Amino acid sequence: MPANRSLALVVRTVDVFDTSTVATLFTREMGKVAALAKGGRRLKSPFQGGLDLLGVSDIVLLPKASEALDLLTEAAPVERFPCLRRDLAALYAGYYIAELLTDLTDYHDPHPKLFDAARITLRHLGHGSLRARRVLRFELACLREIGLMPTLDRCSQCGEPRELGESTAFGPATGGVLCPACRPGQPHVMTVAERTIEALQDLASPGNAWREREMAGSELASARQTVGAVISHVLGHRPRVWPFLGV
Ligand SMILES: [Zn+2]
Repeated sequence: MPANRSLALVVRTVDVFDTSTVATLFTREMGKVAALAKGGRRLKSPFQGGLDLLGVSDIVLLPKASEALDLLTEAAPVERFPCLRRDLAALYAGYYIAELLTDLTDYHDPHPKLFDAARITLRHLGHGSLRARRVLRFELACLREIGLMPTLDRCSQCGEPRELGESTAFGPATGGVLCPACRPGQPHVMTVAERTIEALQDLASPGNAWREREMAGSELASARQTVGAVISHVLGHRPRVWPFLGV
């Protein structure tokens, strides 16, 4: 099979045998792949710095037929995110992005938009005041890309436009907003403040509304809880990095 070249974000590495590494890479062109880097830990490794966790590298992959791991033949660093070295909160947010890419996407299922979103998010995680919003935006981008973006503007069951009020019913396991008629009998219904739903709409939209919007800490926490409930439902468990993420 011909070799494939792609940009890739290194989302996990595991040491194997004496000097080799198995890297999980979220590539721009091929989606998530697991590849064996032979000699990846040798002093004079052919992958100098190209397998650093949460770095973007230019990689060449030799696909293996059947069950075997793909073989990584080149990995050259392209971009590092210095904020992840300086700031522990930024680093945890970076780990969270890696966890979402690893656990929410399938192998060999490309999502170039999500790759680009991850790269931009990682680049800006050092800006503490907007970090929580950037992470929320990335979570929503993930959900959109895998086709599980919760419905916010209308009832997820009957399609009636959302009634404006103080709060609305929201089903993290059933697709989003629920109107009063559809709410009874739905599992795990949350009550979410109207302002939180509006904030999520801004966070999920292009343009600058997401960064210009006034948001109190309690509102960010509520947005985090709402999106986190959807992500936890999709994963089947709470994200592992969640306890370390500040709001
Ligand atoms: Zn309804």
